[in-house]
Amino acid sequence: MLKIGLTGGIGSGKTTVARIFEVLGIPVYYADNAAKKLMNEDENLKQQVIKHFGTESYIDGKLNTSFLAEVVFSDPQKTLLINSIIHPATLADSEKWFQKQFCPYAIKEAALIFEANAQKNLDLVIGVSSPLEVRIQRVIKRDSLTKEAVEKRMQHQMDERKKMEQCDFIINNNDVELLIPQVISIHEKLLQNIYRLHL
Ligand code: ATP
Repeated sequence: MLKIGLTGGIGSGKTTVARIFEVLGIPVYYADNAAKKLMNEDENLKQQVIKHFGTESYIDGKLNTSFLAEVVFSDPQKTLLINSIIHPATLADSEKWFQKQFCPYAIKEAALIFEANAQKNLDLVIGVSSPLEVRIQRVIKRDSLTKEAVEKRMQHQMDERKKMEQCDFIINNNDVELLIPQVISIHEKLLQNIYRLHL
């Protein structure tokens, strides 16, 4: 089974694209959701978060996401620190998840793949590309954030062009090109390659 990464900047449409792959029967690991689950359930991870970010990181044992987002996104060093705590845990968790999938390929959706050097554990990476202004407007609408808050979050991510250069497939989610045909085309290519590999 091929392990496929799916990445893109904030608001590029990774989750939207991942849902289309799910409709085609492809299992998807959502790294962001998995990280939150692990931070709520994994005692070792919880202790590390508390040690570095304080007891306010949890309220009644539940992750205080708004507090952590505020702390983490205001300081690049803290972004690096939280990522260095979370990435090894989600990497191990996603590897376990991949091993349980029985299908031609499975997808790991994550905002940070190249930033975390996670591509070395993946066979191919699909990038979702979207113009900056479209991404900003989508996130303002989805998360009721100000433009400044969205831009602050985006500052911590790798430049979109550099990210897309490293991807094996690119899906353009620019409000002009249709998403579904692009996903189906990649799905077919992946299936054909897999069949070729198994002939
Ligand atoms: P994040 O990294 O912030 O989680 P994401 O890359 O997963 O974002 P989505 O959540 O898929 O992005 O998309 C951001 C918002 O834009 C969502 O509200 C989604 O419904 C909307 N959106 C994405 N693509 C399209 C599209 N082609 N047409 C209309 N709305 C879209």
